[in-house]
Amino acid sequence: MGSITISKVTKHFGALEVIPPLDLHIEEGEFVVFVGPSGCGKTTLLRLIAGLEDVTSGSVAIDGTDVTQVAAARRGLAMVFQSYALYPHMTVRENIGFPLRMAGIGKAEIARKVETVAETLNLTGHLDARPGQMSGGQRQRVAIGRAIVREPKAFLFDEPLSNLDASLRVNMRLEISELHQRLQTTAIYVTHDQVEAMTMATKIVVLRSGIIEQVGSPMELYNQPRNLFVAGFIGSPK
Ligand code: ADP
Repeated sequence: MGSITISKVTKHFGALEVIPPLDLHIEEGEFVVFVGPSGCGKTTLLRLIAGLEDVTSGSVAIDGTDVTQVAAARRGLAMVFQSYALYPHMTVRENIGFPLRMAGIGKAEIARKVETVAETLNLTGHLDARPGQMSGGQRQRVAIGRAIVREPKAFLFDEPLSNLDASLRVNMRLEISELHQRLQTTAIYVTHDQVEAMTMATKIVVLRSGIIEQVGSPMELYNQPRNLFVAGFIGSPK
């Protein structure tokens, strides 16, 4: 579960065409990074997949089912933002359990699932803390926990580490990569940071002005960049 197929998708904001017709297939279990300069449409593309923006034309399918008309909350995807979006008045336990409570799941099951997620993310000792008492890295882990607890078909990350300082960013990159290896859930990760793309991705999608310049593994892009834009962006010697 967790393949995503984007077919002939376009997105206009008024007269501005942000995404010209675009096709992309993401296999189940991949860690796909959308990379490209600021304003090239990475976040817009992610939001179209999430259902947080409506496509202007074209379709989005998850596991072969067209979800273009399906509301974001019913697509079975979980989004993690840079701003954490945690509830300050709730404990970590309540924050992680919140999506399950909204889904009407019973207290005992929520408690069990939250404990499991907390163990996975080394948050067991912090379950009764509130976000304001935690570091940026811990808060981002809580936000990831809240995504994991829903057992989504795919994780959608929008520059989740850009608010963290450099050394913490390196740690969190490793944590997210390890988590992906354990869970094997499809992940799409937006960043403008080439190092993040090269170290985390199984597949990189290089975007320029809403157009896919190249798709490939980090090594393919590094060794065989299709053009100077990709080479320049990836930092390869072409
Ligand atoms: P990136 O994530 O690569 O930085 P975005 O997807 O955020 O790029 O933005 C792509 C383009 O779409 C930019 O020119 C941005 O100004 C424009 N844009 C994004 N969201 C909106 C919106 N809600 N209304 C109008 N223009 C938007």
